Amino acid sequence: MSIVPITLCGDKILRKKTAKVAEIDDNIIGIISDMFETMRNANGIGLAANQIGLNKQIFVADVSPVEGYEKYKPVAMINPKIISKSEETDSIEEGCLSIPELRAEIIRPKSVFVNYFDVNMKEHTIEADQLFARVIQHEYDHLQGVLFIDYLDDEMKKKYKKHLDKIKKRKLEIDYPISSSTDYMLIK
Ligand code: ZN
Repeated sequence: MSIVPITLCGDKILRKKTAKVAEIDDNIIGIISDMFETMRNANGIGLAANQIGLNKQIFVADVSPVEGYEKYKPVAMINPKIISKSEETDSIEEGCLSIPELRAEIIRPKSVFVNYFDVNMKEHTIEADQLFARVIQHEYDHLQGVLFIDYLDDEMKKKYKKHLDKIKKRKLEIDYPISSSTDYMLIK
């Protein structure tokens, strides 16, 4: 297992729709374990493959460090698909390891049904709600090239522009390894 650098807002791979995983081999299993380690090292609760420079439909999530969610198991979702969303929404503050030091309240559906494959290529469909649903939606968005800041209104986008420019130019002190602005494909 190893900790790998995290891509930052401004890196092109974060805006690209990721490709389906055709086969789960030892390489993919190794990458997933690196993703868990990288996420935990950065105190994150979710991480998508393009956040480590890999153009694949994989994300990991672990909400168990959050108070009230201790019983939730860590999960790796391969080729995930959100198949339905609740009409009911809630507003939760989100952050992102690719957008350090920026947090904002985002409104999203309160619960979702998600279909995915696990590392044993077993298919699952589960209903997720509250924070778990939130992380799934945030990470699923990553795999489509969408970032949570895309949901901000123009006024908020304007407010955060300077901060985002700082991230893009890597002028922020970040206490976990980040990609240099050019090495997008860190792992093949
Ligand atoms: Zn994120």
